[in-house]
Amino acid sequence: MRHRIAVVGSGPAGLTFARVLHRHDYPVAVLERDPAPDARPPGGTLDLHEGLGQLALDKAGLLAEFQALSRPEGQAMRILDADGTVLRDWRPRPDDRANPEIDRRQLRDLLLGPLDVQWGRGVTEVVPGTRDGVLVHFADGRQETYDLVVGADGAWSRVRPAVSSVTPHYTGVTSVETSLDDVDTRHPDLARLIGDGSVAVYGVNRALVAQRNSGGHVKVYARFRAPLEWHTNLDLADVEAVRSSLLALFDGWAAPVLDLLRHGTAFVHRPLYVLPVSHTWTHVPGVTLLGDAAHLMPPLGAGANLAMLEGAELAESIAAAPGPGELDDAVRVFEEQMWARAGRWAQITTAGLERLVSPDPTEALALFDQVQPSPR
Ligand SMILES: Cc1cc2nc3c(=O)[nH]c(=O)nc-3n(C[C@H](O)[C@H](O)[C@H](O)COP(=O)(O)OP(=O)(O)OC[C@H]3O[C@@H](n4cnc5c(N)ncnc54)[C@H](O)[C@@H]3O)c2cc1C
Repeated sequence: MRHRIAVVGSGPAGLTFARVLHRHDYPVAVLERDPAPDARPPGGTLDLHEGLGQLALDKAGLLAEFQALSRPEGQAMRILDADGTVLRDWRPRPDDRANPEIDRRQLRDLLLGPLDVQWGRGVTEVVPGTRDGVLVHFADGRQETYDLVVGADGAWSRVRPAVSSVTPHYTGVTSVETSLDDVDTRHPDLARLIGDGSVAVYGVNRALVAQRNSGGHVKVYARFRAPLEWHTNLDLADVEAVRSSLLALFDGWAAPVLDLLRHGTAFVHRPLYVLPVSHTWTHVPGVTLLGDAAHLMPPLGAGANLAMLEGAELAESIAAAPGPGELDDAVRVFEEQMWARAGRWAQITTAGLERLVSPDPTEALALFDQVQPSPR
């Protein structure tokens, strides 16, 4: 028996879910608010871990293609002092495939493959328990019903209220992103500073991280502790005003490090929000959540990995569940498994953010030494 299944959102969670179902010849409606795949900039590179994101891609039959596209050398990590002194310069072995990087656009296209996403279908509300199943309301006024609706619609999920009243809260750390293009030709000194992967500089309650994407594109993240309203006297659309404000905030840092901000193009403000660690809910038949919709956590390299593995696992459980009762049991078992694993990662990343943007910058270095193998 084939159930009527919809997934809301075509991020890493929703696409992996749909792609694994597709591998099992199981139909699923993928409902995405964006009007087209490239309607928004895709965001920075993702590192996919062997036991998480890569395992999910294996379940989707896409691991070999991922290995061909990904950048193992992108795992390299350099840490500098605010005065520019190199404190750590870690490079992976040539055969190290533990956490290779991939551009989000490449990952999306890999997962999209044969999937028929319904673009421009923003969901506004999900109502479980109606006579015909779970009712989905769309922004254009239309409605449809399904046996199972999977909310993979990210931090500000419109599916989540059907199972939980919890909403994300501000961490006290904000982030302003900028980027550099053609770094190897236009900014060779910065290209050397960044190396093949990332460079991170930690100061008192501040951090600057620059990360290489493919094609000489670099994303720069300025993170700092600040009240949510820190920018009330600043026009965030005024690029030069934001640049000056950041340069003032990082005043005294080494000139080559500040060049990452001086040469940045547009600036995007992203305060870091999270859901409570160990967010769970009372099971609601016909609705569940995946990825950031279920467990938004600090962006320290776990969110997309968890989202993808959850998508793959839920899809496999559904494909193996023939009857209506079994579908609900499969979802319940999946939720317990997801909550336990995501709770552990939420603890790790929450503690990590405290140490990476900390009054004591040596905490960041100590954390790096704890999680990375010995420097080579
Ligand atoms: C700067 C930064 C760096 C990061 N680096 C990493 C990393 O290296 N590794 C890692 O594992 N994680 C990383 N993360 C975290 C990762 O980006 C997220 O955890 C991941 O994208 C979550 O995937 P998702 O599919 O759950 O949600 P999303 O990626 O947010 O996708 C949600 C989708 O749902 C759609 N949508 C939203 N609302 C609706 C609606 N109402 N109706 C229909 N569609 C809707 C959205 O348009 C979007 O396509 C990083 C995050 C940030 C901010």
